[in-house]
Amino acid sequence: MNEYDSNRILDLVRPIGYLATDNPSEADCYILNTCHIREKATDKVYHDIGRLKKEFRNKKKPMLLVAGCVAQAENQEMLNREKYIDGVVGPQSYHQIPEIIKKVENKIDKLNSTEFEVVEKFDTLNLIKNSNTKISSFLTIQEGCDKFCHFCVVPYTRGPEFSRSFDEVINEAKQLVENGSKEITLLGQNVNAYKYISKTNIIRLSDLIFELNKFKELKRIRYTTSHPKDVTKDLIEAHQYCEKLMPVLHLPVQSGSSNVLNTMNRKHNISYYHEIIEKLKKAKPGIRFSSDFIIGYPGETDDDFNQTLKLIQKVKFINSYSFIYSSRPGTPASDQEDVDPVIAKKRLVKLQTVLEKNNFNYKKELLNKSTKVLFENKLKDQNKYFGRDKFLNAVVVESTQNLTGQILDVNINNFNHNSLFGVMSFKEKNFFAA
Ligand code: SAH
Ligand code: SF4
Repeated sequence: MNEYDSNRILDLVRPIGYLATDNPSEADCYILNTCHIREKATDKVYHDIGRLKKEFRNKKKPMLLVAGCVAQAENQEMLNREKYIDGVVGPQSYHQIPEIIKKVENKIDKLNSTEFEVVEKFDTLNLIKNSNTKISSFLTIQEGCDKFCHFCVVPYTRGPEFSRSFDEVINEAKQLVENGSKEITLLGQNVNAYKYISKTNIIRLSDLIFELNKFKELKRIRYTTSHPKDVTKDLIEAHQYCEKLMPVLHLPVQSGSSNVLNTMNRKHNISYYHEIIEKLKKAKPGIRFSSDFIIGYPGETDDDFNQTLKLIQKVKFINSYSFIYSSRPGTPASDQEDVDPVIAKKRLVKLQTVLEKNNFNYKKELLNKSTKVLFENKLKDQNKYFGRDKFLNAVVVESTQNLTGQILDVNINNFNHNSLFGVMSFKEKNFFAA
């Protein structure tokens, strides 16, 4: 979502004369768009500022705004701690950035804009065309969270659940497709909690997907991040009937132990999670899943951890994320005793080894098979093109023809930790398929 927000910030500042630069050491203004999900993210912001100060030691100081969730959480404290910062802007008030820049230019004061003004933000954004020209684009449809998992800062930094209107979303999707996007990923902290109440009915994520599925020039639809609790019947039907909805779902589970899920306040247990997976598999044969895992959550025992390993072996997730639990100030879990860090680290290594092994076996199975790849861009200084298959696997192919924006059959002949490699199966130009 920060990538989407950063692009929209660029759309906002363009009319007041600011453009993105390829030469950061010459920039007049820096906007650090930050994430607060784990502790290291905050450290990284101060580290980045340290680098900036060094870079500009003998030059005119650039304007520096800190945006995003670190700004929201740390607020005035950031301005007090680091004098180099000219303003802090929360994720629900970044529509005010042009005004803030003007005020900083006129040396009015250090500025703090961290109100939750999500309606006003999207009202402003709706007036400005989305200029993103990527083949695969993000589109925020929902923000915030009302679930309050005990480890998570999102409900405090992004605020309560909010859904954009059906018309807003569809209009912006049309702009993206006009700009050349072939794939749209619908975004939200709880994307499948999307719920817009219009004058006549309630609109859900599935309604948006069914509508986007009709767009002729749009070839692929994805959505992220979803909560297992909000995988409703209509959403499962969207997987069954919308051929453009891709057959991979990021469905974070966090832990394979129902006890841990309970203390996390996740509002679902493991048998429910399995039920959802089974329903989706039935609706969309061949669908694969990826997940997020938190290791060493307060109170996690060896037995709990082993249940997570068991779940991984059963579901055979692909391309998942796993992190050691990071205590976040102000969250209920932060009052609980942490698992011994040495044990937590050992568990993480073990879990990642299993995930890696599964990924290796999964990729090995793809060898010498053909897969449809949507090519997104040419790699810098090489005759190689980067794209993704339906399952979001990165694929790299050598070609002297411009493949960008096309969906082509690729024979996979090699792979490494990050990517699959292959050769074209078809020579035709402008070949399109789902
Ligand atoms: N709404 C989504 C997740 C959004 S946060 C869901 O409920 O699944 C993205 C991911 O960050 C989470 O899935 C979780 O794995 C990770 N995360 C959040 N808070 C964390 C913390 N305190 N420590 C470690 N990982 C965390
Ligand atoms: Fe955070 Fe997701 Fe839980 Fe909301 S549902 S509190 S965003 S982990």
